[in-house]
Amino acid sequence: SLSLERYSPVEHACWNAGQPAPYLHLARTFDLMEAERGKTKATGILCNMFRSLLALSPEDVLPAVYLCTNKIAADHENMELNIGCSLVTAALEEACGTNKSKIREMYNNLGDLGDVAQLCRQTQSLLAPPCALSIQEVFSVLRKISVETGNGSTARKKNLIVNLMRSCREKEMKFLVRTLVRNLRIGAMMRTALPALAQSVFINSSPDCLHGGGLEGLKEKLQSISAAVVEAYNILPSLDMLVPSLLRKGIEFSSTTLSMIPSIPIKPMLARITNGVPQALKLFQGRAFTCEYKYDGQRAQIHKLVDGSVRVFSRNGDETTFRFPDLVNIIKESCKPATRTFIVDAEVVAVDRKNGCKLMSFQELSSREKGSKSSFVTVASIKVNICVFVFDIMFANGEQLLSFPLRRRRQYLKDLFFDEKLGYFEYAKEITVESEDASLNSEATLAKINSFFEDAFNSSCEGIMVKSLDVDAGYVASKHTDTWLKVKRDYMEGLNDSLDLVPIGAWHGNGRKAGWYSPFLMACYNPDSEEFQSVCRVMSGFSDSFYAEMKEFFSGEKILSSKPPYYQTVEVPDRWFSPELVWEIRGADFTISPVHQAAIGLVHPSRGISIRFPRFIRSVPDRNVEDCSTSSDVGNMFQSQTRKMDVRIED
Ligand code: ATP
Repeated sequence: SLSLERYSPVEHACWNAGQPAPYLHLARTFDLMEAERGKTKATGILCNMFRSLLALSPEDVLPAVYLCTNKIAADHENMELNIGCSLVTAALEEACGTNKSKIREMYNNLGDLGDVAQLCRQTQSLLAPPCALSIQEVFSVLRKISVETGNGSTARKKNLIVNLMRSCREKEMKFLVRTLVRNLRIGAMMRTALPALAQSVFINSSPDCLHGGGLEGLKEKLQSISAAVVEAYNILPSLDMLVPSLLRKGIEFSSTTLSMIPSIPIKPMLARITNGVPQALKLFQGRAFTCEYKYDGQRAQIHKLVDGSVRVFSRNGDETTFRFPDLVNIIKESCKPATRTFIVDAEVVAVDRKNGCKLMSFQELSSREKGSKSSFVTVASIKVNICVFVFDIMFANGEQLLSFPLRRRRQYLKDLFFDEKLGYFEYAKEITVESEDASLNSEATLAKINSFFEDAFNSSCEGIMVKSLDVDAGYVASKHTDTWLKVKRDYMEGLNDSLDLVPIGAWHGNGRKAGWYSPFLMACYNPDSEEFQSVCRVMSGFSDSFYAEMKEFFSGEKILSSKPPYYQTVEVPDRWFSPELVWEIRGADFTISPVHQAAIGLVHPSRGISIRFPRFIRSVPDRNVEDCSTSSDVGNMFQSQTRKMDVRIED
C-alpha cells in the first residue's frame, strides 16, 4: 500500500476517466486491508481508493461506500441479502465446476467460504478472459437479490450470483463471496470508511496540501472533516443523503449541512455507567439535573411524518413499526392535532393493565409476537399490553432540537402531547434537583434521590438515569456521555452493571454438557483497533435448550479455521467463532488478568481486565457486535469498582 503522499489517484487507478470503476479496484483495496491491519493503515488505504473514484468516476463513490461497509441499504430500510451458505455453495459449484463434497473438504481446511471460492476460481481454466465487473453492477445485483421473493426466487438468486462469479478476476471472487455471506473481514466499519471518505474529499479538493510543510496542520484538518462527517451520519444515518451532499459541498461540508428527517432514525444518545448515587451527584455538583426512572423495556424512537403516519425504530435503527400497532395508535391518540412532525425517544414497557398498570419484565415484552415487514402484528392478536414512557424529543415541526438543553426539550415535548394516560402514554417519571441543591454535602438531596431510586426499583425499574438539565444538556447522537448517567442497583457487591459481550469461541463441554459448547469465551470490542479482546470464560446462567440452540447456531461458516488477527487473547478455545451475537454478562467483580486482554494498556501496561464469576443474563438480539461493551467501558468499570483496593491479580 502507498502512503497518501505517494499515491496518485489517476496513475494508480486500474481504469480510465469516464469508464465505470471496476470492482477490481475495491477487491485490490480489500486485499491490501486484509494484509495490513490497524485502523490508521485501513483508513489510509480506503482514502486512496476513494481518491481514485473521486478523480475518475465520482458516481461510483456511493456504491463503493456501501460495499466496503458490507451494507446494501440503510439499517432502517430493513433490506437484507438473506443468502445462506448453501446457496453460495450451489452457485460456486455451477460457476467453477467444483463439486459440493470437494467444496466442503476445502472449507474444513480453510474455514472461510471466500478463501474456498478464491481457490476454486484460481484452479479453474478459462477459455476467454471474463468481462470486467463494475462496482455499480455488483451493488445493483446485490440489491436485486435482496428483493427477490416468492416462487422460484432461490433459482433466480442463484443465477444472479453465478453470473457475478463467472466474471470474477484476481481476488474479486474472495471478496464477492465474503460480501454474500456478510463477513468481509477487513474491519472496514462505518467509523473507518466515513473518515476515509471525508479525508479523500479534502485531499482531492486541495491536492497541494500533501506536499511541502504543514503536515501537522493537515492532520488536524483531516480529523476535523472526518469528525464532521461521522457526526452528520450519526444524526442522519443515510449514505444516500450524506455521500452526495459531501461530494457537492466538499470542504465546506459541516455536521450541520444536513438536518434530521422523520422516517430516518437518528443514532440514539447513550448513557455512562456510575457506581451509585453519590458518584452521579459528584459528577453533577453545582449543576441542575433530573433523575428519571430507568425502565426495563425496549428503546423506541418514534417518528411522526408529514403524512400523519407514525413509525417506530429500535435502538439499532431497524424499523419495528410492524411489531407495535398498539403503540402507533397510542401515539396518534396522544399527540395534539397541531403536531405535524416529531422524533421522540422513549422506552416501551410491558404492562399489566388489570393489575394497577404494574410494569412487567423485559422477558414479557420479548414474548410478544415479532411480526415482520411483510406480516404486521394485528392489534387483535396482542396478548401483552404496553405502555410507552417518553423521555426526550429531538425534532419537532420541522425544527431540529438537538442543541437545546434538556429542560427546554422537555417543555417542547409536553406542548406537543395531551396529558398522560396511565398505562398507555406516560412521561418518564422524574424529579428535578436545581443547581443550588446539587451538592454531595446536601443530606436532603441525597435522601431525596435515594428514595426516588428505591421507588424506581420497587416499580420494577432497573434503576435511575441522571441527566444534566441545563449545562451541556444537548442531545448527543450515538455517544455515551457524562451528561446521561445510569445508576443501577448493585447486583452483587462490586460489579454494578453488566457488560454486553460477544462470544468469540468455546470449548467442547464435558459431562452433562458433552455435545454442547461450554464454556464460551467472551470478548469486548476496541473500536480504535477494531479488535475483539477477551474478557472471560462463561459457563453459568445458560439453559439446556440454549446450549442446544448455540451448538446448532455455531456451525458451518460461523466456525473459523484459526484465530483471526482481530481477536486479542491468550486463550486457545477448541473452536473460534465469527463474531455474531451479543450476550449480557454479569459477574462479581473485575480483576487484572494475564490471559484476558480487555482494556489492555488502559489500567495495566501489559495485562487486561477480566470478570470474576461471570454468568449469562440474556441474549441482546437488537445489538450489533461492534456496539457491544468497549474496552474503555471495561476500563471505566474497573476504575469505578468500589472494592478496587482488593483487586487481585489472576494467575
Ligand atoms: P447502552 O444503551 O448504554 O449501550 P444498554 O442498552 O445495555 O446500554 P442500559 O445500559 O441498560 O442499556 O441503559 C440505557 C438504556 O436504558 C437506553 O438505551 C434505554 O433503552 C433505557 N432507558 C430506560 N429508561 C430510560 C430513560 N428514562 N432515559 C433514557 N434511557 C432509558
